[in-house]
Amino acid sequence: FVTTQACLRAMASTQDTIAALATPTGTSAIAVLRISGPDTKELAEKIAGTLPSPRSATRADYRDIEGNIVDDVLLTLFVGPASYTAEDTLEISCHGNPFLAQRILEDLLARGCHPAEAGEFTQRAFLNGQMDLSQAEAVMDLIHARSTRALAAANQQLRGALGRKMDALIEGLLAVLANIEAYIDFPDEDLPTEDQEFVAVALERLKIDTSNLLATNHYGDILRDGLKTVILGEPNAGKSSLLNRLVGRDRALVSDQPGTTRDYLEERIILGDHCLRLIDTAGLNAAPTELEKLGMEKSLERMAEADLILLVLDQSKSSPELPDTVRKHLNKVNTLIVANKSDLTSDAVSSPEFGNYETIATSALTGAGFDELQIALQNRADAFHVELGDELIAINARHADALARANTCLEQASAQLKSGDPIELIASELRGSLAAYGEISGKIDNERMLDHLFASFCIGK
Ligand code: GDP
Repeated sequence: FVTTQACLRAMASTQDTIAALATPTGTSAIAVLRISGPDTKELAEKIAGTLPSPRSATRADYRDIEGNIVDDVLLTLFVGPASYTAEDTLEISCHGNPFLAQRILEDLLARGCHPAEAGEFTQRAFLNGQMDLSQAEAVMDLIHARSTRALAAANQQLRGALGRKMDALIEGLLAVLANIEAYIDFPDEDLPTEDQEFVAVALERLKIDTSNLLATNHYGDILRDGLKTVILGEPNAGKSSLLNRLVGRDRALVSDQPGTTRDYLEERIILGDHCLRLIDTAGLNAAPTELEKLGMEKSLERMAEADLILLVLDQSKSSPELPDTVRKHLNKVNTLIVANKSDLTSDAVSSPEFGNYETIATSALTGAGFDELQIALQNRADAFHVELGDELIAINARHADALARANTCLEQASAQLKSGDPIELIASELRGSLAAYGEISGKIDNERMLDHLFASFCIGK
């Protein structure tokens, strides 16, 4: 919530307890409300009777605007700029009874607080210079992290890893710009050869560094969303049984009637440090019915965007006749063969077509081979990690868009330098790169982009 001046935040625990109100056993530990803004100290004094000492938990009676005691609370005052938002902030920990939390919320509203917009606390922190934009985004990544790796990447970004990389790029680019801008005032003069060489080498370095950062984008998608893992195979090969065993519960319908999964199912699982997005598809039938054809089309769409394909083969049968549309998508790098129903045969799967593919024999019925399968899946997920120095940097789509534009301008500038174009033109491209770099840490002013970005945060963050 936000007062004209101050901003109040109901943390997740409050929302949870309010949600719990609907259940008959809806009790919980504590609720935390957070207020930020210049009126905060005055508000704290009115609530508690005296001003709580900063940065220590102070026990107080919460008195509402009419002077009635509402709850026995703990108040923690953070005096700006040493606070999350850089403004004065107050955290009120009250008992987790949703009714109580609601009473306090209503009282704070009556005292002039306004509800915070989604992401407003972090937006204020950014606007007040507490963090750059990439760090603000990392807060959101941290909240939504689904795996140890995603958490590690978010934490590094929050601690400024991407910001530091961008600062280095910006510094490198500024050095080039400084070098050539000196000649802009002398349009008839060419860049001296040594300066041309310096600029050419520096631009090449910048392009490589920018491309390396761009290459982390796909891993960033995987960290944020999970490794897209599509389960393919003939009807009845055991795809749904495989999904259920990996997920650890019955998620998909298992039936000995071929073709029971007509559409597709999605489940996320955590394996080691990774999150996998498992997608169970309709069976691939060499001679499909009309309805099966629809299911197969969806399977093909999913397959085309997969990071990893698990091709499930029934070991007790001969190799399936896969449609050509499927075959042409499969290769050793993107496909892992799951030779299922190992309990039905002692022979290893003999499929010359997939002979040089990594193959794991499993039985979705008994669980045999699943430890090996899980290790193989983790190794596959590991392989998507792009090394970039010591820090785990994995950019998001917004960063990728800005970096791609920066690189286009750099390419352009390099080409112009080679063909001896006027220095103003080169400088203008370089300024284009600089602006695109600046968007990543938010060092340029773009109100619409900022509103859009913070609106995707959850309320109270
Ligand atoms: P899907 O059509 O590929 O999804 O296959 P299902 O998971 O529905 O399984 C089809 C049939 O095969 C069911 O009767 C399963 O119980 C059976 N099945 C699945 N995996 C195994 C396995 O590893 N061994 C044996 N013996 N049967 C299995």
